Amino acid sequence: MSQTFERLRVLLGEIYDLERVGFLLAWDQETTMPPDGAATRAEQRATIGRAAHERLVSDELGKLLEELRGEEESLPYESDEASLIRVARRDHEKASRVPTELRAEILRAGALGLGAWLEARERRDFEVLRPHFEQLLELRRRYIDCFDPTDEPYDVLLDDYERGFTTPETENVLEHLKRELVPLVEAARDADGPVLEGPFAVEGQRAFSLDLLERLGSDRRSWRLDHSEHPFTASIGITDIRLTSHFKEEHLGGIFAAIHELGHGLYERQISPSLARTPLAGGASAALHESQSRMWENLVGRSRAFWRFAFDDLRAALPEALADVELDRFFGAVNRIRPSLTRVDADEITYNLHIVLRFELERELLSGRLEVRDLPEAFDERMLGYLGLEVPDHRAGVLQDIHWADAGFGYFPTYSLGNVMSVQIWEKACGDLGDLDGRIERGDFGDLREWLREHLHRHGRKFTPRETLERAAGAAIDPEPYVRYLKGKLGEVAGVAVS
Ligand code: ZN
Repeated sequence: MSQTFERLRVLLGEIYDLERVGFLLAWDQETTMPPDGAATRAEQRATIGRAAHERLVSDELGKLLEELRGEEESLPYESDEASLIRVARRDHEKASRVPTELRAEILRAGALGLGAWLEARERRDFEVLRPHFEQLLELRRRYIDCFDPTDEPYDVLLDDYERGFTTPETENVLEHLKRELVPLVEAARDADGPVLEGPFAVEGQRAFSLDLLERLGSDRRSWRLDHSEHPFTASIGITDIRLTSHFKEEHLGGIFAAIHELGHGLYERQISPSLARTPLAGGASAALHESQSRMWENLVGRSRAFWRFAFDDLRAALPEALADVELDRFFGAVNRIRPSLTRVDADEITYNLHIVLRFELERELLSGRLEVRDLPEAFDERMLGYLGLEVPDHRAGVLQDIHWADAGFGYFPTYSLGNVMSVQIWEKACGDLGDLDGRIERGDFGDLREWLREHLHRHGRKFTPRETLERAAGAAIDPEPYVRYLKGKLGEVAGVAVS
């Protein structure tokens, strides 16, 4: 490759380093940092973020990308080099549209919004957050104005997470889910699922999870598992994957969170080493990332085959709580379908209705059809309509998620898009590999991991989300396989037959 290309790689490598140092600061903040470090850490993260942004929008980078147009055209579209130029150009152009001051203002307002959100939750009072919320929404409108006018302002926000996905196609998927799932939730309402009794020893859960993660494909040379309030994954580099979980005595959610995060981590870990220290060394989109975490958490981790493999070990790790529990009862309990107030604790079916209602409210807010002051009431109304639940207070309702307080409008739908993609990719893998249940029951996850590496993970960000899904699943996004899967699960778990 030319010297121009080599210079591009150097610059992009520096941007990558700064960005990942930012991830490391964030990881440290949530796992290790003493609380009084917060003010200094906010400045440090802002400084690193600014330095990365300045390089990304720099004239030098813009000039290099212009000079490389000819070279790009002479290379195959799939090549690492052409992909690097193409993706870097798009990142550069997109970042250059937004004035640095506006970006900084959004970051600052988001940081203040988070503080207000914590206080509003404490006091169970949306009014504490409301002025911040209104300002964040206004800043997001200004952000949207930086781009070419489209029919749907929401497209701009969605594009930050799912490049190239449009609001109408997202709406189609979510409408389809709503139509199919509201009756399923109704059908499941009267089924009485088993419940497990705690307490579940935290040390036992942690030891079991560490062992399990190794069986699933992590290793101690390039992975860690730590504790944080909210589970997440930070990839500091392709060979430095940090997972977190949160184990509690009251339930086993921390084990499923660890499996979920392993799915995110494996995606990052199996990116082709040839893409290291470039902007291509990441997942193709938020939804594709979530397709991987939800696949390991649900399609693998909540299957009967999986617990045939893992249940004896879990029982040995938690003898007090599980000694007298049979496998069937355990399987029913970890798959219990029941509307609940909190999205992150929701079962596989009701989960998507939590997303649908947030997506609808975001769009109404953005278009001005809904005023921020009326949001709590609108939220509660839809909880009643879709899930049949009365919301007792703002903390359990409109204040439960962090995303809106952090300016993250447009993020929620990617959770459901990820669920939908997870089953499409899973079915393709099953078609190619044959019997996966048998392998899972034997604790053999290698073939599935290799399949995912070959068809999805290794590509990183080389292709658009649409192209990436096409390569992995052989199809465009389609909610039908996911709905079929959920109906099957409902039949298996609750004995409810649905056509
Ligand atoms: Zn996730």
